[in-house]
Amino acid sequence: MAVTTRLSLNDKLHLTCSRSGTCCHGKIVRLNPWELACLAEAKGVTPKEFRDQYCDFGGIQLRFDGPPGWREQSACSQYLPDFGCSAHFGRPLACRLYPLGRQRQGEELYYMYQGSDFPCLDGCPEVVDLPQLTVAAYSEGQATKRFEAAQDEYLELMQNLADCAFELLLETGLAESGDRQTVRLWQEMGQEEPGQLQQRLGSNWIDLLMLPDLAEDLNDPVAFAHRHHDLIMLKAEESFGTLDNAADISKASALMMGLALHLGRGLGANPPELAEHWIKTAKAHGALD
Ligand code: SF4
Repeated sequence: MAVTTRLSLNDKLHLTCSRSGTCCHGKIVRLNPWELACLAEAKGVTPKEFRDQYCDFGGIQLRFDGPPGWREQSACSQYLPDFGCSAHFGRPLACRLYPLGRQRQGEELYYMYQGSDFPCLDGCPEVVDLPQLTVAAYSEGQATKRFEAAQDEYLELMQNLADCAFELLLETGLAESGDRQTVRLWQEMGQEEPGQLQQRLGSNWIDLLMLPDLAEDLNDPVAFAHRHHDLIMLKAEESFGTLDNAADISKASALMMGLALHLGRGLGANPPELAEHWIKTAKAHGALD
C-alpha cells in the first residue's frame, strides 16, 4: 500500500516553488468540470475547444503531450518551455496544491503528500535554500479556497449520481425482480480504463458531465456545481422518468453509476474502490449478488 504523509495546516515544509517546472512533466492532472471551464477561460477559448485540444477522456484529465523535459518526461499541454504554465490563472487544484494532496473522507479533511520523503526534494533540491511555509500559508498563497469548494461540491454531485443509480435499482422493483445484471455492470465499469468508460457513456452524456454551459456562474464554483447538478438531474428525469421495463431501468442505473465513476476519477478517486463501496452498499439494501 502506498505510503502517505499526513500534514496539519501548521506543518512547515519546503513549499516555496523554485519555478523549475519539473512538476509540469510526467504527471496525471485530473479535472472537475468547473476547473475545465476555468482553464478554458484562462486560455481564452471555449470549454469544448479546451477539452478537445488539451484534455483526455472527455475532459477529466489534462493531456501531457508537450515536448519532453525533466527526465525526458512529456510536458503538460499547458506548459511552455522558458515560460511556464500558459493557463496559470486557471490552473486546477492539483497544480495549486502540488506536491500536496487533499483528501476528504466524510467530515474528515486533511492534506498529505505521497511517500515519506518530501516530493519536491527530488525534482528541485534547491528548494531547501528557500523559505519554508506552513500548509495554511501555502494554500492561501495559491488561492485554493474556491478550488477546494468546487472539489467538495463535485464530490456531492458524484454521490448524488450514485444515489440515482441506487434508486433505479432499489426503488423501482428491479432488484426485487431478481436482477443481477445491474450490479455486475457497475463492477465492470469500475474496472474499465477511463477511455473505455468514456466510450460506454457516449458523447452526449460525457458532454453534459464535463461541458455544462454555465459561463455566467464561473466566479462562484458552488453555484456552478449546483446548476450543473440540476441540469444533469433534469436530463436524467426526462430520459428515465417513464421507463417501465427492467432492461431499460438496468441500463439507466448503469449509466448513472458510470457517470458517478467517471466524475469520481476526475476528482482523484479510485473507480474500482468506489464501485466496490457502492456495490456493497446496494447489496446491504437488497441488491442480489
Ligand atoms: S496546468 Fe499549468 S501548472 Fe498544471 S501541470 Fe499544466 S502547466 Fe503545470
